Amino acid sequence: MAVTDHVDLNGFMEGVKKRNPYQPEFVQAVQEVAEDIFEFMQDKEEYHSQQILRRIAEPDRVVSFRVCWEDDAGNIRVQRGWRVQNNNAIGPYKGGIRFHPSVTESVLKFLAFEQTFKNALTGLPMGGGKGGSNFNPKGKSVREIMRFCQSFMTELYRHIGADIDVPAGDIGVGGREIGFMFGQYKRITNNFTGVLTGKGLEWGGSLIRTEATGYGAVYFLANMLATKGEDLTGKTAVISGSGNVATHAAEKIVQLGGKVLTLSDSGGFIHDPDGITQDKIDWVKTHKTHRRGRIEEYVEAFPGATFHAGKTPWGVPCDVALPCATQNELLGEDAKTLVANGCRAVSEGANMPTDLDGVHTFKHHKILYAPGKASNAGGVAVSGLEMSQNSERRSWKEEELQQMLKDIMSGIHNSCIKYGDQGGGYIDYVKGANIAGFKKVADAMLAFGVV
Ligand code: GLU
Repeated sequence: MAVTDHVDLNGFMEGVKKRNPYQPEFVQAVQEVAEDIFEFMQDKEEYHSQQILRRIAEPDRVVSFRVCWEDDAGNIRVQRGWRVQNNNAIGPYKGGIRFHPSVTESVLKFLAFEQTFKNALTGLPMGGGKGGSNFNPKGKSVREIMRFCQSFMTELYRHIGADIDVPAGDIGVGGREIGFMFGQYKRITNNFTGVLTGKGLEWGGSLIRTEATGYGAVYFLANMLATKGEDLTGKTAVISGSGNVATHAAEKIVQLGGKVLTLSDSGGFIHDPDGITQDKIDWVKTHKTHRRGRIEEYVEAFPGATFHAGKTPWGVPCDVALPCATQNELLGEDAKTLVANGCRAVSEGANMPTDLDGVHTFKHHKILYAPGKASNAGGVAVSGLEMSQNSERRSWKEEELQQMLKDIMSGIHNSCIKYGDQGGGYIDYVKGANIAGFKKVADAMLAFGVV
C-alpha cells in the first residue's frame, strides 16, 4: 500500500502535531488550510501521491541564530533571531521580519506558511518566508534599536538576496528598522540591491508601500460588499490595532464614506462614537509611530471617546470589522458577539487574527469573511512591485501603483470566488483563498519533481 493511501485529514493533522510539538500557532495555520485542501484533493490523486501539502507544511529551512547587542547601560543582551524559508516554488522567499517578545519559532513558521499562500494569491512571483526575533523594541532608545538591527543583519545577510529571499517589515519593524538593516547589509556586502522592501523613497523604496496593507484590506472589503450590491457609505467599522495597518485601514474607510468607531493597542481599546476622522487618525499616527505613545491617551486629546482597559473592541456594535492587530485576537466568543450585533463583513488586516472557533463561527453564519492571506495581501503585493521597480532601476508613479494595488486586490477577490463560491449567494473566502493559493504553488512543485 502506498504511504498516502490511508491518510485523511485527521491522520495528516496527527502527523503535523507530532512533528511540531509545542508549536500551536503553526499547527492552527496548517489545520485551517488542510480542512479545505483535503476536500479539494479528493479527486486529485497526484497532489496526494506527491505529498504536496505535506511538503508545503515542512519549511524548506529554518535558520536560527544568536543576536548579541549592547544596551545603553553597557549590558550585554542576547536575543534569538530566525528566518523561516517556507517555500520558493514560484519565486524568491518573501515575507516580513517581526520584532516582538511573543515571537517564537512556531509564530514564524505559521507566518511563513501563510505567506506562501498569500504571496501566490497576489499573482506575483514570490515564495513564502518570514523572520524575526523575540527582541522587544518597546522602551528601547533609537541607538539600541540600531545596534540590534545591525547585529541581526550581521547574521541574516548570508541567507538573503534579491533573488534568494527578500525580507520586509512586520510588527515592530517599520521604515526606520528597514533603514538600519539595509545600511548594515550594504556595509557588509558592498552591494546596493533590492534585498529588502519597505525601503525609504530616496534609496529604492516604493510609493504607497506604507499604506498598502491597510488600504488593500479595505479594497477587499469593498469588493466583498459589492457582491451584495452594497458599499461602505455610512457603514460603521470596528478596527483593532493602531499601527501602520490599522491607521491606513481607518483612513481608507473614512475616504470611502464609512465611520470608524474604535482603535486599540495591547493596553485596551478606544471607542469614539463621533467617528475617528482623518485629523484624529493623523494624531494617532504621530502619537503611536513617532512618539511611541499609548492609545489610551487618545481620550485626553478627544474627550468624546472612552478607553476600555485590557479589552478588545469586538463588543462594539458595527456593520464591518477589521482585525488589524495580531494573531488570535478575535476568539470564537468575539465572533459570536459580532454576528449577534449585526456585523455583516470581516476583513482581516492582521495575519490569522481570528482563531479556528471564530473562523468556524463566521463560516457557519455565512457572513462576508476574508482571511488575512487574501485581504491583507496588499502590503506584500506592493513589496513585489517594489522588487520589480528595483530590478528595472526605476520608480513608478503613485497613480500607477494605486491602480495596480486595486487591480491585485480585485484579482485576489476573483480567485476567492472561483474556488469558494458555494452557491446561493455564499462565498467561502477562506476556502477560495486556500485552494487558489495552494493550486498555484502545488502545480509548480509538481513540475519540479521530488525536491
Ligand atoms: N509583513 C507583511 C505581511 O505579513 C508584508 C511582507 C512583505 O512585504 O514582504 O504580508
